[in-house]
Amino acid sequence: MPLIYDLGEYTEKLSSVSLIVGDGLCSNIYVIGKENAVIVDTGIGNSTNSVWPQLEELNVAPENVKGVVLTHAHHDHAMGAFIILKKASPRIFVHNLDTKYIASRFGPNLVKVEQGDLIETELWPLKVLWTPGHTEGGMCLYNEEERILFSGDTVFQDGYYGRYDGESGSLEATVESLRKLTEIDVDIMLPGHGSPVFEGAGEHIMKSYMNATLRA
Ligand SMILES: [Zn+2]
Repeated sequence: MPLIYDLGEYTEKLSSVSLIVGDGLCSNIYVIGKENAVIVDTGIGNSTNSVWPQLEELNVAPENVKGVVLTHAHHDHAMGAFIILKKASPRIFVHNLDTKYIASRFGPNLVKVEQGDLIETELWPLKVLWTPGHTEGGMCLYNEEERILFSGDTVFQDGYYGRYDGESGSLEATVESLRKLTEIDVDIMLPGHGSPVFEGAGEHIMKSYMNATLRA
């Protein structure tokens, strides 16, 4: 069974944010808010990661799911959106350059976004930061005031960063995206895989940037 964490227990800034850790090859799923929930990444959407049982445990009913944001359109992040669409009809935000293949099947629910767009949540607005490298249309979501970054598969803790050998991946773009992320203030980092960082995330991002630079 996927584990659920109330991230408000780790830092006040994330009260009303939950993390569903997937089973096996599955992205993290973040649930922001309750009444008007916005979900960041949806997991792989298989029988052991079927999203709704966990949302139910969080008291998020289908009518409360207002938005879904996919940091990129890889299977392990995006396929859960089809399970969500069986019961709810949220807007599904995907970067313009990642809307081929999987995301093209979201029909009228799909909202294409790009650098600088704002996505409203119950807690704070999230700004789209276009961070290609892992995929062409990869993005992070940033709240400047609280210094929170949902980092998808662009950057993880301890100096790791996303693979760049996929179909639309690029090491050069990865380095440039990481460089851009070193220029913003980040305390809290909520990555697509692995554990969140609750303070001093900027140091992790700097380490990832330096590691990627050594490869380039
Ligand atoms: Zn990925």
